[in-house]
Amino acid sequence: MAEAATPLHALTAHELRDKLRNREVSATQIAESTFDRIRAVDDRVKAYMVVTQDAAMETARDVDSRLERGEPLPPLAAIPVGIKDLICTKGVRTTCSSKILEPFVSPYDATVMRRLHAQKAIITGKLNMDEFAMGSSTENSAYMETANPWNLAHAPGGSSGGSAAAVAADEAVLTLGSDTGGSIRQPASFCGVVGMKPTYGRVSRFGLVAFASSLDQIGPFSKDVRDCALALNAICGHDPLDSTSADMAVPDFTAGLVPDVEGLRVGIPAEYFVEGLDGEVEASVRAAISKLEQLGATLHEISMPHTEYSIATYYIIAPAEASSNLARYDGMRYGHRTDDPDDLMDMYRKTRGEGFGDEVKRRIMIGTYALSAGYFDAYYLKAMKVRTLIKQDFDRAFEEVDIIVTPTAPSAAFALGEKTDDPLQMYLSDVFTAPASMAGLPGLSMPCGFSSEGLPIGLQILGKPFDEETVLRAAYAYEQATDHHLRRRSPDGIAV
Ligand code: GLN
Repeated sequence: MAEAATPLHALTAHELRDKLRNREVSATQIAESTFDRIRAVDDRVKAYMVVTQDAAMETARDVDSRLERGEPLPPLAAIPVGIKDLICTKGVRTTCSSKILEPFVSPYDATVMRRLHAQKAIITGKLNMDEFAMGSSTENSAYMETANPWNLAHAPGGSSGGSAAAVAADEAVLTLGSDTGGSIRQPASFCGVVGMKPTYGRVSRFGLVAFASSLDQIGPFSKDVRDCALALNAICGHDPLDSTSADMAVPDFTAGLVPDVEGLRVGIPAEYFVEGLDGEVEASVRAAISKLEQLGATLHEISMPHTEYSIATYYIIAPAEASSNLARYDGMRYGHRTDDPDDLMDMYRKTRGEGFGDEVKRRIMIGTYALSAGYFDAYYLKAMKVRTLIKQDFDRAFEEVDIIVTPTAPSAAFALGEKTDDPLQMYLSDVFTAPASMAGLPGLSMPCGFSSEGLPIGLQILGKPFDEETVLRAAYAYEQATDHHLRRRSPDGIAV
């Protein structure tokens, strides 16, 4: 199909930006195209919890009048951006896909929202997720299941499944998600898009509903690496409202996008190519590694001996923090409160019993147990020590290499319903993403091939703390030398 015929909703942010600046299209046309697309496909994909068309059209008109007046526009002006439903949006409901927050409308905007509004981005709506970001398939949403746009019977991954599916189905040009143990990278892998978790502290968590505060990080989903860099430029940077936000200079991430990996040292950890890794995934990832070598990178076998403890450690630390963070949903301050309780304790019990889904309850119980007197040293404290060992594996590896390349997930997208009865199987989806989360490192997932069933396969690139630039450069070089990212941009997007 000729380029001119590509509908606006199927273009990248940088393509739209150029067309807007050349006055080939208006902001209103871009917005309309995206909302038409949402209307056409979202009853099948089910990415959106809520669509915010009216406010978006107002922003689009504002951008058009600025264009008319010849005013300079920020890079994300008129770019349709969807938001995971755990980022607070003033005046628009935020549910975390949980019943317990049902009527909650945040009285303030998260810092990332303020940054997107300052860019004049078009906010398309709020996206479905696993309840409170706990899950790997988006099936833990209390509202609906999101489908994988490549095959509607398959899961989009999670917990940011709505954010990944919306980009894959051209229902948004960019989206924001959050990653605690893999929730940006794994759904990006399943949906064949680019997803990046920046270094912990790079993006303000102010207004991000907390799951596990020492791990949570906001990051973007996009159709290509350049768009990922553009999104990072908009959302990264110090914020006094988040005490864990890093007071460090933020580079222009697009400036470092040169397709050059000459001499780049790529680490390949033996522990990520183990039993349980799907053969097609391994073949695609190994082919991607060879491609990087052909492009001039040098390959280094490395060992990260504590990798095997990552899932056990993560599933102590994340639930422990969650049990504390979720104590605030008590029926007094936010959202749902049970009708007609007998007394205060009964009100707490019933409110929380009715409001939380099974997985959230499971995490609260595991976390409370791990933190309780008598068990704290055996579980939580021990997990924190192992977390340090996992981080030291990375510190040692990064003395020898510049980036680490692995599969993002052990398989391509599994079928909806396939793992819902077995939480442990679901937890194992995070085996390659959780370690970098515990070390706070930046990580990106991008498509590197397709399974025989036609489902995307993801490549994970991990970098040193605050070295998103090198991760992006390697990703860009690989993307420019391959065409996996173009395959998703079929005129009709979703496979039905
Ligand atoms: N799947 C992991 C979990 O269930 C990761 C979730 C996340 O990163 N938010 O905890």
